[in-house]
Amino acid sequence: QSIDTLDLVVLLLLLVGSVAYFTKGTYWGVAKDPYATALNGSALKKGTRNILEKMDESGKNCVIFYGSQTGTAEDYASRLAKEGSSRFGLKTMTADLEEFDYENLDQFPEDKIAFFVMATYGEGEPTDNAVEFWEFINGDPPSFSESSDEKPLGNLKYVTFGLGNNTYEHYNSMVRNLDKILTKLGAKRIGTPGEGDDGAGTMEEDFLAWKEPMWTALQEEMGLEEREASYEPSFSVEEKEEMSKDDPNVYVGEPNKNHLEGSQKGPFNASNPYIAPLAESKELFTVKDRNCLHVEIDVSGSNINYTTGDHIAIWPTNAGMEVDRFMKTFGLEEKRHNVISVKGLDPTAKVPFPTPTTYDAAVRYHVEICAPVSRQFMDTLAEFAPSEDAKKEMKKIGTDPDYFKEKIVNQYYNIAQAVTSVHPGPWSAVPFSCLIEGLNKIQVRYYSISSSSLVQPKKISITAVVESIRVPGAGHVVKGVTTNYLLALKQKQNGDPDPSPHGLTYEITGPRNKYDGIHVPVHVRHSNFKLPSDPSKPIIMVGPGTGVAPFRGFVQERAEQAKRGDNVGETVLFYGCRRKDEDWLYRDEWESFKSALGDKLTIFNAFSRDDPKKKHYVQHDLAANGKLVNELLQKKANFYVCGDASHMAREVNEVLAQVIEQERGVPKEKAEQIVKSMRSSGVYQEDVW
Ligand code: FAD
Repeated sequence: QSIDTLDLVVLLLLLVGSVAYFTKGTYWGVAKDPYATALNGSALKKGTRNILEKMDESGKNCVIFYGSQTGTAEDYASRLAKEGSSRFGLKTMTADLEEFDYENLDQFPEDKIAFFVMATYGEGEPTDNAVEFWEFINGDPPSFSESSDEKPLGNLKYVTFGLGNNTYEHYNSMVRNLDKILTKLGAKRIGTPGEGDDGAGTMEEDFLAWKEPMWTALQEEMGLEEREASYEPSFSVEEKEEMSKDDPNVYVGEPNKNHLEGSQKGPFNASNPYIAPLAESKELFTVKDRNCLHVEIDVSGSNINYTTGDHIAIWPTNAGMEVDRFMKTFGLEEKRHNVISVKGLDPTAKVPFPTPTTYDAAVRYHVEICAPVSRQFMDTLAEFAPSEDAKKEMKKIGTDPDYFKEKIVNQYYNIAQAVTSVHPGPWSAVPFSCLIEGLNKIQVRYYSISSSSLVQPKKISITAVVESIRVPGAGHVVKGVTTNYLLALKQKQNGDPDPSPHGLTYEITGPRNKYDGIHVPVHVRHSNFKLPSDPSKPIIMVGPGTGVAPFRGFVQERAEQAKRGDNVGETVLFYGCRRKDEDWLYRDEWESFKSALGDKLTIFNAFSRDDPKKKHYVQHDLAANGKLVNELLQKKANFYVCGDASHMAREVNEVLAQVIEQERGVPKEKAEQIVKSMRSSGVYQEDVW
């Protein structure tokens, strides 16, 4: 049977259609999803997973891998990439560890260099994006594609910097262990391994102090010549005069394409928030300069599930006053609503927000404009200073750590305040690309969920103290970005008389009024901070201040289990706050939980400031009740700590070892060993920040 012309045409159309379908328009000149480069911050998602191929095709000789949880390691990686390129002419790219395979690291060319910027997370764990890499490199031996000898990485030269917190036992263990493994596999480290300490608050200075000798070592190794570094943009920013902010394809704060197109599609995660209605919001206490919020977030319209002990992320919006200050400082006020298209000038550069957008939307929704300022960034901005004097001053601030501390850090300035303290501006010569490259992407803030999923599976509650720090001598108050945004939502929801708390206003109704009716963008992150699956197991919880958040959820859950007739084990809470009559969180609720749990619930309250002669903290109660604590531990109790990482959590760890030492009559070292093994076996769990 012959095929006639019509059949041929149909066949051809089918063929064309299926090629178009399978190539998703790549060969067809179809306009690319403008968000494709920004979703997950990744330009590479759809490309090769072969890092050597990627480096070859983009002409790179330096890759900076990062393992990042909150974005800081990613930011440091970008800064190293920029500096390597502008000062030493390296052809740099950053690479998210989860976007590549590692089997061919044994073929990494000798004349190239790999950096590893690695954050350590929780109990010495890799960040989510580094899990696969970590499993691979810890293989015994790792299964490299070509080399199976003892030193498969003989060609690999590498540099490491770790981000850690010395209040954790496994301080910077990711980078320390990685360094050992790479060396064992034959790779050669250049410079000393860097370690930044968030616990001591010296991360930035540790980074700056480490990188200079590292660059010198790398220069020698690779024969690099240093040149006068001047700013080189990674992004082009083009104003689109033909477009208006009201055009339907212009992002005015929508986090991604789904949201721009008006539909909310799951799964909801770190790159796709759910715009959730606020079911309820109230203040748990309000005293001068301090207040604490209880917010209930309704996720019933989504497929979001949580289990008790998980975290919820809030996607914040910058305060109008700060956006205005930023616009004015950098000469963007007049054109704030102009439409801009931002593109990476290099295939590996990642635009940190979806475009086309406006200056206003980019700054309001996507840039961390209120955070502490980086000294290096002050140095970068010097070349754009409005006067020679200002330039000199910026250089001094940027290069002298003590002067920087005195002039900027001690004043708690954000970037706009910092540069206007040097020169009132406007600083109109600073390219917008420089601002979005030098400042961080705005970070979501996590909160320990303070409700039980058994009791309210579709309503997530959070308990948050509103951040507000009056800076001594500086004459201004530092306002936390997210908690003041939540406070504003609460004010609006309750029709409070002052809808702009502390003079801050927010675009509460969101982009194109999509958040109207009091909504907030959220996603849930699952945690390992969990109640025992058997409710009859006893539990001991230590949670002063907002550290009590997850324990409200735990106790709510156990009270419900008791009501349902389950055999619920002893439930002991060590709680602490300043004053009985001031900031005792959920004071009435504990009573109702008590009526469900009876003598299974014991709460020890430490009111630190009620007795002017003696401070009283949870650690004291823990020590004073050592006998009970030890008995419960011997009955296989789980031990939980939540709240302040820097002092409380560390002291609780020490006190618990003392309790074990005394109650079991074992030497100190043995007691410490017992606490360590409680941690590694998951009996001792921490949720600290
Ligand atoms: P931010 O804007 O992030 O500011 C925070 C602090 O940074 C300020 O108070 C100030 O000290 C400093 N700062 C800001 N700007 C400057 C500047 N220019 N110069 C110098 N210093 C500056 N918090 C709770 O209240 N309840 C919880 O249940 C809770 N659970 C958490 C669980 C996890 C896993 C984590 C990681 C954190 C948790 N937090 C919790 C903390 C919470 O995520 C936020 O960090 C906190 O609410 C502050 O957020 P913010 O945006 O209001 O403040």
